[in-house]
Amino acid sequence: MTAELIFVGTELLLGDILNTNAQYLSQQLAALGVSVLHQSVVGDNAERLADALRLALSRSDLVLTTGGLGPTKDDLTKEVAAEVCGLELALHEESLSAMKSFFAAKGVQMPQSNEKQAYLPKGAVIFRNTNGTAPGCAMETGGKWILILPGPPREMKAMFRLSALPFLRRFSDSVLVSRTVRTFGIGESAMAERVSDLLDLENPTVAPYAKSGEALLRVTAKAETAEKAEALIAPVLQQIDARLHDVIYGVDVGSIEEAAVALLKEKKLTVATAESATAGLVAKRLTDLPGTSEVFHCGIVSYSDDIKARLLGVDETTLQTQTAVCEDVAVQMALGALRQSGAHLAVSITGLAGPGRDELGRDAGLAYIAMTDGETLWKNKITTGHTEGDCRDYNRTVFASRVLFEIYRYAAAYPRKAAFGSPLNESLRKERTK
Ligand code: AMP
Ligand code: MG
Repeated sequence: MTAELIFVGTELLLGDILNTNAQYLSQQLAALGVSVLHQSVVGDNAERLADALRLALSRSDLVLTTGGLGPTKDDLTKEVAAEVCGLELALHEESLSAMKSFFAAKGVQMPQSNEKQAYLPKGAVIFRNTNGTAPGCAMETGGKWILILPGPPREMKAMFRLSALPFLRRFSDSVLVSRTVRTFGIGESAMAERVSDLLDLENPTVAPYAKSGEALLRVTAKAETAEKAEALIAPVLQQIDARLHDVIYGVDVGSIEEAAVALLKEKKLTVATAESATAGLVAKRLTDLPGTSEVFHCGIVSYSDDIKARLLGVDETTLQTQTAVCEDVAVQMALGALRQSGAHLAVSITGLAGPGRDELGRDAGLAYIAMTDGETLWKNKITTGHTEGDCRDYNRTVFASRVLFEIYRYAAAYPRKAAFGSPLNESLRKERTK
């Protein structure tokens, strides 16, 4: 079954309101096995809306609209849709009394203008609005259906879930099941190259995409039942894992921090952070998750050189000669955080969030990370390639993600430490205990 979505409202065309209904409905319909082939936005204009509806009906089985169901004159989706379907509007008593109760519950008299919302196309399947006044409905024309839903997301979502979804299920003979494989530290195209043959599969389909500096693969299967879809997906997931094992941190996990915290808990490890460029973002993301107190020991935001030296024992000469953004400082920050906290593992990051260059002419997007458990040391330099404009947010997100990914990798390898870092040398061991 094919569907088309039309979002009505001049405010959407002007960019005043973000079209969040598009994402919601697309996701919902995809999960239902309905193929959404077109989406469009139309202003509050009867003629253009009628054109859009006719075009949609000419090429899709199902048309869903949101918006334009308000009580004011510019809201005309229902009127136009009814006309396109050749249906008359009639007072729907049940909707009128529901509307009156809605106002009565708030202790106010229903304005006369709202009565317009209770006029609905004759023969339509009516969708109650549990979070507002405007009912929605489904109307048929020539074997095709137009479903109209209100614009406000809170009303639209509730109506979709309670009325439109059960209504649509009768048309669907299949389900779609998706699994998302999450990777870090590899670009979208490099990731896609490693699985290029899988991208041509038809069922399941495998699609790469990028999000907040991460590359993801979505594997989607269509089948009669969820179990059958899962069975189609399983061997493909195995192949993906075989080829991308080094960069995958989870399937259907919410985020890197979620994957990291789950493993830290499982292996009973605690972690401390010393952050400069990210100024607490790693600690924030770790503690966004409930129950992190088991594994998160402390976070030190050592932003100034002075604090790096005083609190973490970073060598002042190093800070002066190499600046705070260098490998040695990262290593000393991690050692200092381990010493101060007594956590099992300490991670550090120091870098240039940007925009622009530092006094040594180095571009933003550069960071040094170190991690130690007192026996092994792991360190790395990263460059994000985002150097100008509003790169700051992106860089800090990617820096923090990298640290979280390394925590994940450490915990995944634990207790096989050799698989992770290199042994701490004698002088650093001394540094650790000074
Ligand atoms: P309506 O009265 O049904 O036209 O919808 C009114 C309000 O719903 C708008 O002012 C927006 O705040 C919200 N809205 C309408 N369409 C959308 C959309 N596509 N995505 C998000 N919000 C929307
Ligand atoms: Mg409107």
